[in-house]
Amino acid sequence: MFFIRTKKSKDTLGSKEKCAICNEEITMRFNPMKEWSIDGSLCGDCYSKKLSEHYPGDHTRVNLE
Ligand SMILES: [Zn+2]
Repeated sequence: MFFIRTKKSKDTLGSKEKCAICNEEITMRFNPMKEWSIDGSLCGDCYSKKLSEHYPGDHTRVNLE
């Protein structure tokens, strides 16, 4: 578990969402699964972390066919 305080204190009023876990501005927005009981959106990093926490071993989806 880690928390990062945002150094850049931008007062963006809802224009940019913050990640519910790391509190960083989200460039790529991911919706958490219901069973994660997370309120808000996630950045790609935290989303994939959560995925591997909850579904270890079988979370990578790569388009290699
Ligand atoms: Zn995050």
